Amino acid sequence: MIDLHLHLDGSLTPDDILVLADIDKVELPTTDKEELKNYLSFHGDNRTLTHYLTYFDLPLSVMQSKESVEKAVELMVKRLSKSGMLYAEIRFAPLLHTRKGLSVEEVVVSAISGLKKAITENFVAQLILCCMRIDGVEDLNRETVTCAKKYLGRGVCALDLAGNEDGFVYDKYKDLFSYARELKLPITIHAGERGGAEQVEAAIKLGARRIGHGVHLVESERLMNIVLEKGIGVEMCPTSNFQTGAVDEMKDYPLREYLRRGILVCVNTDSTVVSSTNIRREFEFLKESVGLTVEEKVKCYLNALNIAFLPTAIKDNLRGKIIAGLAREAENK
Ligand SMILES: [Zn+2]
Repeated sequence: MIDLHLHLDGSLTPDDILVLADIDKVELPTTDKEELKNYLSFHGDNRTLTHYLTYFDLPLSVMQSKESVEKAVELMVKRLSKSGMLYAEIRFAPLLHTRKGLSVEEVVVSAISGLKKAITENFVAQLILCCMRIDGVEDLNRETVTCAKKYLGRGVCALDLAGNEDGFVYDKYKDLFSYARELKLPITIHAGERGGAEQVEAAIKLGARRIGHGVHLVESERLMNIVLEKGIGVEMCPTSNFQTGAVDEMKDYPLREYLRRGILVCVNTDSTVVSSTNIRREFEFLKESVGLTVEEKVKCYLNALNIAFLPTAIKDNLRGKIIAGLAREAENK
């Protein structure tokens, strides 16, 4: 199993939060694990991205020191490894961990240290560093790009641009991403989640080789053709896309349409704890809601491998393991 779109701060369990709060000496609203879930996992009818993002507040409050950032990554990677994952790209925004004085680089180094403590021969994981669509953090975004370059191939595999799409204008991030392209950084960008197809177009112009979510790409025939021709990957996250209202009804979810066109779309979790999910559940959800077939599922896995920010030799090695895993799964049914 592969997950290419997975947020650190949206994937910490109540147990993790208790450990991290202890390290950072943060007083939690409750120490009851069941009650903590209310702060960490999406519930209710408010299907908006703004509401979805509120579930990141508590996890971020307990990841403001070198020790807690390192521990968070270690705990999460160990959990993924145990769950039978083969490869994951874990993303987070270093600048959101600088509230108590850490520098962007200190955050990145701590995360890499946590990663090294947890990866095994059977499970590879890398980090994607997110710049944020927030006003007033221009310097921190630039430091994030510089750090992504410095640690590329040493724990970091790519750069992202995340956050609310309201008011996301190409001009605002043009210079930042032209710097990232100069440094030859692999780029993925959150676009077309709540924003329309024009956001996807802006992301492509900024240099994205992959699009996070891309639900609204379906609104533009022209852009779908560009995405297909350029081999741009689309990282979809079905449960999250439903919870944020990116799609009103799952019957309109465009993943199968993208597959039919040959677009390199894959299935991811976004945030395992906020969305109360894992990769297996995402595929079950797609089977139930849009009738995803076994062949389409296999295609999604192979697309994920194809667009992963990994050297070819490692991809070749993983391909065999994925096919063997899918065959085992089919046998057990
Ligand atoms: Zn995301």
